[in-house]
Amino acid sequence: AKRGGRGQFRLFETGMDASIRERRELEVDLRRALALRQFELHYQPFLELSGNKVTGFEALLRWDHPTRGRISPLSFIPLAEETGLIGKIGEWVLRTACTTAAGWPDPMTVAVNVSPVQFKDGTLVETVLSALAQSGLPAHRLEIEITESALLDETQSVLAALARLRDMGVRISMDDFGTGYSSLSYLQKFPFDKIKIDRSFIQGASENPESAAILKAIARLGSSLGMAITAEGVETAEQLERIRGEHCTHVQGYFTGRPMASASIGAFLDR
Ligand code: C2E
Ligand code: CA
Ligand code: CA
Ligand code: CA
Repeated sequence: AKRGGRGQFRLFETGMDASIRERRELEVDLRRALALRQFELHYQPFLELSGNKVTGFEALLRWDHPTRGRISPLSFIPLAEETGLIGKIGEWVLRTACTTAAGWPDPMTVAVNVSPVQFKDGTLVETVLSALAQSGLPAHRLEIEITESALLDETQSVLAALARLRDMGVRISMDDFGTGYSSLSYLQKFPFDKIKIDRSFIQGASENPESAAILKAIARLGSSLGMAITAEGVETAEQLERIRGEHCTHVQGYFTGRPMASASIGAFLDR
């Protein structure tokens, strides 16, 4: 009788405690990760289709945890956002990406992902200004990537910050386009320089006509609004050929280059 429902409940509770404890441990580790230099940026090239040339790289955050090994940003960025740590981490990303990109041939650009939470304390524009000044990177060689979730609340203050950045010459990209609820309405609210079509449409386009039709429509729409359009997640020659037929201006994906350490970029560009 002791093995009844109560025992199971206790077991479940123990399991929950364990995952809460694990989360707390990860949070403590995340707090120390900056000071212990466990973060690194990798850079994934994007190609301009017209000239078939690499015109820039997207900075992607990597965390090498001392015991768990490399942890995906998809699992620690949300934790960093919930705990507010994203502020300091995001600032490190901006400064590091600008400093690295300043050493690349002109006019190679760097694209930096900015979390919606980074808009909240009102210091983002100052941080970008300072990162540019400190690194010497001209503003037009920096792209800021936001997802539409950044525009979900406090829309006006976010739009104002984006407008200030754009006035400085920084390019603004809408990331993961097509995956949110109101992507189209945001195109009307802000003149993005670039939209990045989420890889689900690129990868789906070979298998189903719906994805192919959406890809086509987004590319045409963006292009008629004068925006650059990146097709994300291109993994095969066949996908690249499909993209070439559309109004896409750029491609990014494993087919044209995987994210790489900063030290590998010189050789990659010379290849
Ligand atoms: P994202 O901004 O959409 O970045 C593209 C993700 O797709 C990267 O994953 C990249 O490695 C991956 N990818 C690129 N090409 C291909 C491909 O051909 N096939 C497939 N299957 N995947 C491809 P990663 O580096 O794991 O980053 C995941 C997400 O984490 C990013 O998605 C972004 O939302 C977030 N993230 C990464 N770095 C940062 C950062 O510094 N700050 C913030 N706030 N978020 C970041
Ligand atoms: Ca991105
Ligand atoms: Ca994306
Ligand atoms: Ca994404």
